Amino acid sequence: MKATGRDLKTCPRCESTLDRSAFGKDRTRADGLRVYCRPCSAAIVRERAEREPETARRENRAAVARYYAANRPAIAAQRKARREGNR
Ligand SMILES: [Zn+2]
Repeated sequence: MKATGRDLKTCPRCESTLDRSAFGKDRTRADGLRVYCRPCSAAIVRERAEREPETARRENRAAVARYYAANRPAIAAQRKARREGNR
């Protein structure tokens, strides 16, 4: 990774050097952040959905199902907290 400063990271798509908060989280990566900045990540997802709507939909559904399966207790706790907070 190109080191541009302790709290900065360069997005290889738009080549902007941005604060780390401009990048989504990715625990599987060494620096804990997504490769692309948030706007680029969103654009990539959007472009893919336009190019291959069927595949993108299927993969997105699979990813959501995987996420729920892996985080069910945390999601339930979060929903409960939100419900009680909204009373
Ligand atoms: Zn970018």
